[in-house]
Amino acid sequence: MIYDFVIVGGGSTGAVLAARLSENSGTSVLLLEAGPTEPDPEADRLGAVDFSHTGRDWGFQARTAGDATAPYPQGRTLGGGSAVNGGVALRGMPSDYDAWASPNWSWEAMAPCFRRLEDDPLGGDLHGIGGPIPIRRAAKEDLVAPQQQLLAAAQDSGLAWVDDHNDGVSEGIGPSPQNVVDGVRVSTAMGYLRPADGRPNLHIVGRSFAHHIVIERDRATGVAYSSDGADLEQARGRHIVVCAGAFNSPALLMRSGIGPVRDVEAVGIRSVADLPGVGANLMEHVGAFVFVVPPEGAVTTDMVQHQLLIRYSSPESPVTNDMQIGMMNHWDLTENPVLAEVCGAELIWGICAGIQIPRSRGRLRVLSPDPEHPPVIDLNLLDSPEDVAQLTAGLRLCHQLATHEALAERFERVTVLDSAVFADGDDSALAEYAQQFSFPWYHASGTCRMGPDPNAGDVVDDRGQVHGVDRLSVFDASILPMIPRANTNLTCIALGERAAEMLK
Ligand SMILES: Cc1cc2nc3c(=O)[nH]c(=O)nc-3n(C[C@H](O)[C@H](O)[C@H](O)COP(=O)(O)OP(=O)(O)OC[C@H]3O[C@@H](n4cnc5c(N)ncnc54)[C@H](O)[C@@H]3O)c2cc1C
Repeated sequence: MIYDFVIVGGGSTGAVLAARLSENSGTSVLLLEAGPTEPDPEADRLGAVDFSHTGRDWGFQARTAGDATAPYPQGRTLGGGSAVNGGVALRGMPSDYDAWASPNWSWEAMAPCFRRLEDDPLGGDLHGIGGPIPIRRAAKEDLVAPQQQLLAAAQDSGLAWVDDHNDGVSEGIGPSPQNVVDGVRVSTAMGYLRPADGRPNLHIVGRSFAHHIVIERDRATGVAYSSDGADLEQARGRHIVVCAGAFNSPALLMRSGIGPVRDVEAVGIRSVADLPGVGANLMEHVGAFVFVVPPEGAVTTDMVQHQLLIRYSSPESPVTNDMQIGMMNHWDLTENPVLAEVCGAELIWGICAGIQIPRSRGRLRVLSPDPEHPPVIDLNLLDSPEDVAQLTAGLRLCHQLATHEALAERFERVTVLDSAVFADGDDSALAEYAQQFSFPWYHASGTCRMGPDPNAGDVVDDRGQVHGVDRLSVFDASILPMIPRANTNLTCIALGERAAEMLK
């Protein structure tokens, strides 16, 4: 059988694309997903999963900053990242999309896609009602006590109340939009694929790992994959669409001979298209916490971890909302003895700042043609001195909030960092701390960048088509030319909606 579309990866973007394309009963779609397809009700409960501790994970390691390496979770299941993530459902700012590759991806083009994906009770001109992904916010009167205290501290520090962080203009503190209902994170597998279940023209094959794209005379004709570790099979398609995520998409392209010619040939793979940008331009939001030890008995773990989100602009920033702050009401470190020892406590809370427009860039490399060999991921966080300065300033604001009198009943001491560091004007100790304790927000993007010029590092054109290989597209976080000023899941879902419009 030759499918109209063979899609590799049923994550935030791929699941949307498969569901939308198969709405037309005359279009045949095969969706290959490396992870399982059956639901896992325990893992879908947001509070029950500690990210990389879920079994639905690729088990990647990444260099973060300095010499530090850390596990980097990536969902390996139907729904991909949307099935393992933190459930924050935030849009980027409109100008983020206007700055992308072309009018195909402008805010004007993307706004209808955001509306279509949403079921947001706010409705009106800005929001969709009845879409596949529910967007919910805590009402002001339902904020738990620590979040009310954070609100008081933030307002006293000059931050305004925001009803809707997804209105495209507001700055300040307001409820975090979440795609979570009754504690369950609604993934693209649930929102998009479940309603499509039973369509005869949509075949979803789980536990099927794509080894490489089959390319004949510069044209993609199929995907070689293995199901449950069995011998390679070939799926044939008129159009091959790679939606394997920011790490696996460039790795799959490189295993197929598409990438920097020297790197590809150095590991014994025949080069098909010399695209120096495959694996480059790796972008990531980077954050760091101010950790606080509470007085004995002042903090309990029987409440939601966070409800409010702060979007704000760093001092002298030319753009708005280039920073985010959130507070974790409680953090039980009994499962994390290393951090518990560093913090000198098993139960802490913390306030975290994160850079939304990072300047540092990382890179991903493939060192073996063997698909079981994981890619080498170098996030290179905080490589740019401007990023360090911005995060340092963010930590100062976190400290100001954490030590505010509104949060006094929960405050015994700041840990790891000496509070005196915040009192003097010298940022060097804070900068060192940021290098050591910064962490990625798991929003990797940009490794198959969209743009017109392959020689300048662009991998796909503004219709997602891989430069130099016919009938092969990439749609997922890897093609983002610039990471949005927001957590990336909602953008990837909207990208799937937009890709479906184009491919249809
Ligand atoms: C732990 C964590 C927490 C996060 N928290 C948030 C949050 O709260 N809010 C937010 O907005 N964003 C969050 N994100 C980021 C967001 O979820 C991702 O940006 C988004 O899911 C990426 O979508 P994608 O389509 O690019 O890739 P993915 O959703 O990762 O999809 C890729 C899919 O392809 C499959 N695949 C990969 N390689 C192959 C192969 N060779 N063959 C077959 N299948 C393959 C994978 O198994 C996966 O299902 C988080 C991410 C993680 C990992």
